[in-house]
Amino acid sequence: MNGEQIKANTDGDLDVLIVGAGWSGMYMLHQCRRLGLSARVIEKGPSVGGTWYWNRYPGLRCDVESMEYSFSFDKELQQEWDWSERYASQKEILGYANHVADRFDLRRDIAFNTALTALRFDEGSNTWTADTSSRGQIKARYVVMATGCLTVAKMPDIAGVADFKGAVYHTTNWPEQGVDFTGKRVGVIGTGSSAIQAIPIIAEQAQHLYVYQRTPSYSLPAHNRKLDPEYRKQVKARYEALRDEARHHLVGIPAPTHAASVFDVSPEQREKIYQDIYDAGKPFALMVSFADVLISKEANKTAQDFLAARIRERIKDPEIAEQMIPKGQYAGTRRLCIDTHYYETFNRPNVTLKNLQKDPIKRIVADGVETTQGSEQLDCLVFATGYDAMTGGLLAVDIQGRGGRKLRDQWAEGPRSLMGLMVAGFPNLFTVTGPGSPSVLSNMFVSIEQHVEFIAGCLEHLQRNGKHVIEADAEAQEQWVAHVNEVANSTLFPLGNTWYMGANIAGKPKVFMPYLGVGPYRQLCDQVASDGYRGFVTQ
Ligand code: NAP
Repeated sequence: MNGEQIKANTDGDLDVLIVGAGWSGMYMLHQCRRLGLSARVIEKGPSVGGTWYWNRYPGLRCDVESMEYSFSFDKELQQEWDWSERYASQKEILGYANHVADRFDLRRDIAFNTALTALRFDEGSNTWTADTSSRGQIKARYVVMATGCLTVAKMPDIAGVADFKGAVYHTTNWPEQGVDFTGKRVGVIGTGSSAIQAIPIIAEQAQHLYVYQRTPSYSLPAHNRKLDPEYRKQVKARYEALRDEARHHLVGIPAPTHAASVFDVSPEQREKIYQDIYDAGKPFALMVSFADVLISKEANKTAQDFLAARIRERIKDPEIAEQMIPKGQYAGTRRLCIDTHYYETFNRPNVTLKNLQKDPIKRIVADGVETTQGSEQLDCLVFATGYDAMTGGLLAVDIQGRGGRKLRDQWAEGPRSLMGLMVAGFPNLFTVTGPGSPSVLSNMFVSIEQHVEFIAGCLEHLQRNGKHVIEADAEAQEQWVAHVNEVANSTLFPLGNTWYMGANIAGKPKVFMPYLGVGPYRQLCDQVASDGYRGFVTQ
């Protein structure tokens, strides 16, 4: 599709407009074709892959093992694709995205370099009108927002950012040709998942690296390795059972829960269980290792102590180690990271930890960063400051539903949706892995496939029953929001100052956004569908 207006095959309007050509958008298009619906994807980037297209910072890998991080809907696809490493690199994951697009001939229905700017619902015709950056207006009966959860960058709210005269990079949108830091004085701001992966590689090149840490994260060694063909063969032989297990697991990444409480086993047994998980490099396994590890403060303390001891082992200078051990942070409530030599990087003579809790940044100046106690001269600044997660991509678009009501206003106090799929007052508008669904607290592939299949099932149901409109019932939505909060409040998650809570964005309401529990959520969705889409109003 080269710049032409987007028109449907039949009556001029599309059945389905899909926004975004990441995993969700590509699979949604495939499902729409299966249903015989006229569907098109608009994608703001020049190619497929979504977050994996834009994110190319050095060291980027997925934190879900590659053999578990792929589509399961097509048996041949999952048998023919070979991952080369245990934790796949961004390059390989993007290669997989391109492979999927080619294999299912998706590109002919994707308009690249086309951003959605506004979306309005017309109550007379029950259709949506989309304003786009480069293809004029598109009308569609249904819109699927496949815009991803980690797409809108968080720029740091630091005085003087614009004054810096050196090179500035953000991990969420890295130059395609890469960056050579050889001989440069580099500052990295942020110590979340992205920074933890990029820092060891930048440190190998830079003349000197300053790491500005406000909140340390817990990280486990990835123990990445090349995958042995025999291992791949064994996994592929059991794929059906493994996929099924993932679909019904708490986070979509199967791992055992060893006991109801960390205190049901001896301290030695517990230590061994934690150590085995650590040595296996499986962050999600730690989160489910005991049923109470994310529920009880005392239970969580055992995981914190274990991880703190590992940090002390990996960093030679005990003072630096103490500063890099998270304090007052429940392990697992902030994303547990995986790394390759992250802590060891702070043993290098060309790396300096700048602890912003002790010595905050005053401002960024033309040639570096000033803190309350000094300053560093820098040639390059890397912002690893994360995302306006989950709601950012949706609220970046001016979306107006019934009566011209704006989604931005409706979500001013925090996102409210029915099962992370639809929002009351916004008929025929679906969100894939939206707030209120397991989404970012799961293996995204498992959640995306489940959501796309639910939406496709729903469209099929409407088709079969001669209906054209579906909308979340306002009361059902309120009940769902209450349920999401109830589940979250039974855990330690809401006590974390994390992006799961929207706490990283100034002024963003503090609401725990994901729904905890992939397996239970799937069951609820299946029940809703078999009850004729209970909680959704159709006409
Ligand atoms: P992040 O986890 O939100 O981390 C952002 C970091 O920047 C935090 O350390 C934060 O500190 C810091 N920061 C923000 N504003 C700052 C300021 N004004 N001054 C100083 N520090 C500031 O973002 P991320 O690392 O990009 O990761 C986001 C998510 O993407 C991850 O949690 C994960 O889900 C996903 N991801 C996954 C992988 C993987 O699969 N391996 C890799 C990268 C990302 P505070 O906490 O104090 O605000």
